[in-house]
Amino acid sequence: MDFPSSEVAAVAHDPNCLFCKIIRREIASKKAYEDDAVYAFHDIAPQAPTHILLVPKEHIATLNDLDEAHEALVGKMLLAAGRLAAEAGISRSGYRCVFNCMSGAGQSVYHIHLHLLGGRPMGWPPG
Ligand code: 5GP
Ligand code: ZN
Repeated sequence: MDFPSSEVAAVAHDPNCLFCKIIRREIASKKAYEDDAVYAFHDIAPQAPTHILLVPKEHIATLNDLDEAHEALVGKMLLAAGRLAAEAGISRSGYRCVFNCMSGAGQSVYHIHLHLLGGRPMGWPPG
């Protein structure tokens, strides 16, 4: 289901942000899931057989910008990731949920996103 653009418009967005443009359908993406607060889509350069990005519809640049008001939102993102993992059939084989925060940790798009990765063995520690 596509949520009406009026709902997307109601949350804070940054017109220059790549993921805000994806959420607002200004840039195409392959949707995996959507609700009132969260949008999930397949990564354009998948690093595993399942590689889905879950983003809040609200523009939040980094994990450093979260506060108590976002508690439920972050919970929704994680619950949605678990459901998508089940749908992808990787609940038992295993999957990884990653937030990169700041360039030193690999963040390249400054709109928080949860990477859901699975479908292959994953090494630890990550690079
Ligand atoms: P980061 O490096 O910030 O943690 O992750 C950004 C992710 O966004 C990368 O895995 C990258 O492949 C993905 N990405 C960048 N641009 C696009 C795009 O235009 N569409 C999609 N679907 N994914 C993108
Ligand atoms: Zn954004």
